[in-house]
Amino acid sequence: MRLPLDIDEALTWLRHGGDVQLFCDAIVWPQEPPESDALAQHRRRRSFAAYSGTLPIRVTVTLVAAFAGACPNLRPDMTCGAYDRRPRVCRIYPAEVNPFLPLDPAAKACPPDAWSDTGPLLMQTGKIIDAETAALVAQSRESDERDRFAKTYLCALLGYDIAALANEGFAIYAPERVRLEASLRAAQRASTQLDDQQPHSTHPWRFITNRASTSSTLASIGAIAGLTGHASASAQSPAYLGFFDAEASDSSQPPSPEAP
Ligand code: SF4
Repeated sequence: MRLPLDIDEALTWLRHGGDVQLFCDAIVWPQEPPESDALAQHRRRRSFAAYSGTLPIRVTVTLVAAFAGACPNLRPDMTCGAYDRRPRVCRIYPAEVNPFLPLDPAAKACPPDAWSDTGPLLMQTGKIIDAETAALVAQSRESDERDRFAKTYLCALLGYDIAALANEGFAIYAPERVRLEASLRAAQRASTQLDDQQPHSTHPWRFITNRASTSSTLASIGAIAGLTGHASASAQSPAYLGFFDAEASDSSQPPSPEAP
């Protein structure tokens, strides 16, 4: 269980003793998509430009509150012990921030009686109509767009340069709390002095994957890619959360990297 946070929320979470991780994934971005490509434009607004080898990519860095088991703010009586400062994602739940994810009650942890038709209406024909939730979703998207500038600095400050292929997994960095807090503040300060319209990383990125076919496909189009558990992994190497079983040989049909 992990809660996505914006930078201000991550600083609050850290200040109250919580842990925050960075989930990094990247998409192949050979050319700018048309304005009409809503899915690509959504991803573009949440990411920054970078290169892996000679391949243009876009990197998405998601800050998440990390904990094992139940949220540390959950009280024994199942109420929130941090209600006034709970993250925005908790206020939005069970609605989705991602406009391309339909709301699926079966995938949510709400008690059955939460889905009655007697309470205020949340959604209608796939659209959020509850004004407060809609405003929170809009704020969430705005902070994603704003924070990506600081996140380019954050990754440079922390020396993070590895991402999973989008929709295949995440590279997960778990920086020490004090170091992360200082880096987040420095990155926020630096980003306010930026007049670039588009954030871009100044250091090269590498892909990590647990599938040999993905690694060889990425390498064949100019990216730098390596397999999880490789001997060159160091203490700075991220953990890997894959959505697919590991694949040691590249004898199977390689998947096409997602592109806009
Ligand atoms: S609402 Fe409170 S207890 Fe529930 S996940 Fe959010 S912070 Fe944790």
